[in-house]
Amino acid sequence: MSQHPMKEFYNETFYMAQKQLDAVAETMNLDAGVHERLRFPRKSLIVSVPIKLDNGITKLFMGYRVQHDQTLGPSKGGVRFHHDVQLGEVAALAMWMTWKCSLLNLPYGGAKGGVCCFPEEMSENELERLTRRYTTEILSMIGPEKDIPAPDMYTNEKMMAWMMDTYSNFIGYAVPGVVTGKPVSVGGTLGRVEATGRGVALTAELAVQKLGGFGDAPTVAVQGFGNVGSVTAKFLHQKGYKIVAVTDAKGGIYDPTGIDVPKLQAYVREHGSVEGYHPGDELDLKDIFELDVDILVPAAVANCITESNADRVKAKIVAEGANGPVTTEADRILDAKGVYVIPGILANAGGVVVSYFEWVQDIQHLFWSENEVTNKLTYLMTKAFDEVFHTALERKVSPRTAAMIIGVGRVAEAKKLRGLYP
Ligand code: NAD
Repeated sequence: MSQHPMKEFYNETFYMAQKQLDAVAETMNLDAGVHERLRFPRKSLIVSVPIKLDNGITKLFMGYRVQHDQTLGPSKGGVRFHHDVQLGEVAALAMWMTWKCSLLNLPYGGAKGGVCCFPEEMSENELERLTRRYTTEILSMIGPEKDIPAPDMYTNEKMMAWMMDTYSNFIGYAVPGVVTGKPVSVGGTLGRVEATGRGVALTAELAVQKLGGFGDAPTVAVQGFGNVGSVTAKFLHQKGYKIVAVTDAKGGIYDPTGIDVPKLQAYVREHGSVEGYHPGDELDLKDIFELDVDILVPAAVANCITESNADRVKAKIVAEGANGPVTTEADRILDAKGVYVIPGILANAGGVVVSYFEWVQDIQHLFWSENEVTNKLTYLMTKAFDEVFHTALERKVSPRTAAMIIGVGRVAEAKKLRGLYP
């Protein structure tokens, strides 16, 4: 592959995403020209996002929107507000979105966006100004036929309503299909808020069924208790799984007798964190990865299972709620140990699947019942899980490689059929 001059992209997460593509390209004998085109994003935008803080001071934040690929349709991907956001990371997340949409057979390419900031320290008014100004700065790139943002870390449905409103004000009429993950009253769909966690829980359950030997109440540890982590924990708890450990950014709890997840959710709603919850014992954040559990669900940040802790992972299944929580080196270690890693492009795809349903409903102005949404989600995720499971068996590769072979393969086929313009 040629050396690309845009070294701005080189950060650990982007390098990991690119290495995953390079490895799978070799395994599947990917056309060299298609491989070259998929290694970097199609379009990247860096924007300044100045806002007035509540204290009257003007502060500038850096924002990004990256479209990795649009071969199968408009690009799709969340917007995160986090202090680690930078171009390389956003580009990696956009690339994973391409494979994820393709794996789930959605008519989308991958994108991602974000603003580098400390959202926990900002007031609601400041966050609204930040969201609206960011939307304005990336306006030329987004639209229901072009690129459709959604929530991600530290962004939520309220912010999606602000994004929709800002875009609609520029266009002159309501355009609900410009973002997904909106409140139902402004064109959101039933079932979106819980979709990602529902999908993570479903894929973990499917893995338990396929692999067998877990007993009646498999034990689970969940890193991150935000949207994805808490909902995953809730659904697994409902199915009789024993959630024994949970961490978030502020603290962790460990209770080998099993945590009452609805009670913990109520506690977190009141206190903002799992920290201080009883009767669980306190748990150091990094110890969550080394607990003797059946299933480990990293549902917070990237690069947390690395070569320095992977060999101490005792879980038999790792379900990637987060994007990129397992580094390439750690992946190799886990694979060699026989840990079944359900890759993020499959495990956490429930969010984008239901986002797709929301977009379809917005375009058709015809809305579905929650049952319809959930049944269609379960069908698509189960189908993708089975495809990955069987491809991994047939080709004797890890589930991640199998998922990539399917995801990259569909994009590559479409790219070859469409050809290279001009
Ligand atoms: P969120 O903001 O709702 O929650 C993030 C959680 O992670 C919070 O509980 C936070 O306290 C915790 N956290 C942050 N740093 C931590 C650390 N070092 N140790 C332990 N916990 C930590 O975000 P979310 O929407 O739940 O997203 C979580 C992950 O899932 C992200 O990687 C995101 O990209 C991915 N994801 C989200 C969706 C979605 O629909 N929300 C879809 C696909 C993937």
